[in-house]
Amino acid sequence: GRKFFVGGNWKCNGTFDEVKKIVNILNEGQVPSQDVVEVVVSPPYVFIPVVKSLLRPDFHVAAQNCWVKKGGAFTGEVSAEMLVNLEVPWVILGHSERRLILGESNEFVADKVAYALSQGLKVIACVGETLEQREAGTTVEVVAAQTKAITEKVKDWTNIVLAYEPVWAIGTGKVASPAQAQEVHSELRKWLQANVSSEVAASTRIIYGGSVNGANSKELAGQPDIDGFLVGGASLKPEFIDIIKSAE
Ligand code: 13P
Repeated sequence: GRKFFVGGNWKCNGTFDEVKKIVNILNEGQVPSQDVVEVVVSPPYVFIPVVKSLLRPDFHVAAQNCWVKKGGAFTGEVSAEMLVNLEVPWVILGHSERRLILGESNEFVADKVAYALSQGLKVIACVGETLEQREAGTTVEVVAAQTKAITEKVKDWTNIVLAYEPVWAIGTGKVASPAQAQEVHSELRKWLQANVSSEVAASTRIIYGGSVNGANSKELAGQPDIDGFLVGGASLKPEFIDIIKSAE
């Protein structure tokens, strides 16, 4: 079985006080046990130490990015080694905001995934098509190419969670329908089966992101190939607890 996975991507949001407040809300939330759901929250780098120190022990932290190789003279970057040193277990890589706004290519993202894994981090690797690509009918081609770039550099998928996040659904309130999301998740799993292995296809969690909230998460979670969520806006609100509960 693939354990349900819920990630909260806080993006570039929050003050110190707001961060402490949301951690308090999370700490008080009644959620299924760690045997049922794996919960990871991803604060901006500067807040990682305080979140780690205050957060309930059954929730874990992720960074939102890291440098592509060993640290050194790379002003403004944070290395995978530093995250490991701080005992940050997870990192989000290839988020569409980094691909599209910061210009990260499929190959660059794949290099980051390979390096982060080599240092012992677990990776939430993001893929997803733009509205233009969906309308052109190239959704599966786009997400397959993003995934292929990773498989060319990574052999062991044990520590990867694949996040399907259609760009048109991110921060727009336009959630993919359960059928739309299920279709792409199923195509991604078939792609993994054909191009990596049946074992990897069966065991890799494929999570959905894009306007997930407390009201739509339950139906999405009921789809056979949706193994959890990567939540943006709603992960900063009490309803994140409801989203976690959709694991049951
Ligand atoms: P929203 O949930 O705000 O649409 O963001 C999704 C996302 O990008 C998570 O990584």
